[in-house]
Parts: sequence; structure tokens; C-alpha cells
Amino acid sequence: MEKDVLYLVLPCYNEEETIEISHRKLRSLMDSLVDRKIISSESKMLFVDDGSSDKTWSIIDKLHRTDDMVEGVKLAQNRGHQVALYAGIEAAVEKADAIITIDVDLQQDINAIPRFMASYEKGSDIVFGIRNDRQTDGFFKKHTALIYYKLMRMVGAGIVPNSADYRLMSRRSARALLQYKESNLFIRGLITTLGFKTDKVYFDVHEREQGSSKYTIHKMLKLALDGITSFSIFPIRCVLYLGLMVLLVSICVMIHDFFDWYNGNTVDGWASLELSIWFFGGVQLVSIGIIGEYVGRIYMESKRRPRYIIEENTIK
Ligand code: UDP
Ligand code: MG
Repeated sequence: MEKDVLYLVLPCYNEEETIEISHRKLRSLMDSLVDRKIISSESKMLFVDDGSSDKTWSIIDKLHRTDDMVEGVKLAQNRGHQVALYAGIEAAVEKADAIITIDVDLQQDINAIPRFMASYEKGSDIVFGIRNDRQTDGFFKKHTALIYYKLMRMVGAGIVPNSADYRLMSRRSARALLQYKESNLFIRGLITTLGFKTDKVYFDVHEREQGSSKYTIHKMLKLALDGITSFSIFPIRCVLYLGLMVLLVSICVMIHDFFDWYNGNTVDGWASLELSIWFFGGVQLVSIGIIGEYVGRIYMESKRRPRYIIEENTIK
């Protein structure tokens, strides 16, 4: 029987210290999977260089020349983790029966890969990797992540809690994902809107062994904001509710003032006047800011720019 072709998609951004070590570990895992007839020998490790400024690409290129299981795609610019994943999936989709995306630092336990494949063989199209705990995360990352998952659920984007971008996708589910043409990409949220038969696999998270985290606070914030705004108009609705509430309060104040006036109590209301100027100024600024977020995104989407540009590609 023909064995399934597995593509591992590995996004890399300035990972010169990491790639070779990860390659060695993955190669021996792939060999054992081939030996155990779980995957085809045509399977590949696809490294996506997300516009690194260090030696990442030359290392990938060297590996490609010495190991026929290694392929590489080089994005011309740093476009971020999500786009790098998308680019990798797009490059792999017609060659692979199944695609597993995993960070190149291998913080996510690679020993879960056989379990991903087992679930795929049983007919799952999407297999989510779910982390067992968050012990390796710092206090800040752990708590911001938990709050974030709650928030996402509140705004109506169904992300599977504690699933990161370690997952398996069958060819048809990957094709479906690639039909999403929005450039504001939040794959974790899009995945749950695809449908298909899904499954979960639990895995442990290790400390990063080489190099440092490439997810700066800035990139994390951008991911969080993209997630929320690409899935809901909840923030806009909040402005509406806030506006209605303020309106109600001002009607009550008006009635109160009217009775005061009727009873002859003229109030020298400097404080309230000053307060309301500030208050409404604030409300208006917040509202404009939120609307601006969306208008900005409409502007960006309306350009229909390519998400990334490939500089080099070893896949023939
Ligand atoms: N990454 C990327 N582009 C970026 C930032 C990160 O492709 O702009 C990759 C990075 O090389 C790694 C993965 O995304 O393979 C996850 O990043 P990292 O391990 O730095 O994040 P953390 O595990 O600290 O959340
Ligand atoms: Mg990492």
C-alpha cells in the first residue's frame, strides 16, 4: 500500500543556532517513521525562512544539498510566524498527503508526531496539538495567554484552548485553509471554521534550547489584536453599548436638572460641565480609535497585496 507523504513545515526566523540541531532530531524521527512504514520516503522537512537576517537560509540551502529530505522556501521579507506557516502550507499542499506545522526550536515535543499520524490514518483531517501545561512559560506569558483565550472566546472566535500552531492538516483541509484570502491571518482561529473531522493530541512543551524567542512583545500584541479584530466586530459593538449607556445617563441628568430648575435651584455647575467635556472627549476618542482599527484593516485588505514573496524555493 502507498504510504502517506508527510511534510513538516518549520517556520524559521533568525534561527541559525537551532536549525541544524533540530534537523538532526527530526531526520532520525522521520527515518524511524519511514522504517516503520508510517510515512512514505518521499516525505520532507520544509524549512520556511521568514526573511531572516542571519545565516538561516544558507544553512537551509546547505541541508537541502546534503539531505534529500530537506526542502526550503525563503520569503523575501520577515512577514511573521503566521504568514510563514501559510507560505509553507501553500508550498507543500500539492505534494503532501498530510502537513504538520511545528516551530523549528522544537519546544513542542516531536514524539507526538507518530500520534498525529495515527489519528490521521484513522481519518482525522485536522489534528490539534494541545499542550499539557504551561510550566515552561514565564509568569507573564502564561497569564496573558490564559486571559487571551478567554477574551477570544468572548468575542466569538473559537480557538481550541492551549492549542498553538502545532497541528496536522490533511491535504483537503489545507486546501480549504488556503481558500481564505484575507491578509490579516490568524490561522488558529480560521482552522476551527473549516469543519472536517478533528482530533486532539496532547504534548509536552520544553524549554527553548538554542537561541532566544523570536516572538517579541510587539509581535505577540499584533497576533493578539489580529486575532480579535479578524474575528469579530465585538469592539465596535462595545462602543455602541457604551454610547447607549452614556445617553441613558445624560437623559437622567437632564430630567434631574429640569426638576432642579423647576424648583428654582440654579446650580453653578462648573465641575459637572468640566467633567462632561472630558468624559465625552474620552468616549469619542476611544470610539474613533476603535473604528479606526477596522477602517485601517479594510484599507489594508482592500489592497489585496500578496502576503509574501518567495525569493528562492527548492521544491521542484
Ligand atoms: N517565527 C517566524 N517569524 C517571526 C517570528 C517567529 O517564522 O517573525 C518562528 C520562529 O523561528 C519559531 C516559531 O516562529 O520557529 C515560534 O517562535 P518562537 O519560538 O520565537 O516563539 P515562542 O516559542 O517563544 O512563543
Ligand atoms: Mg519557541
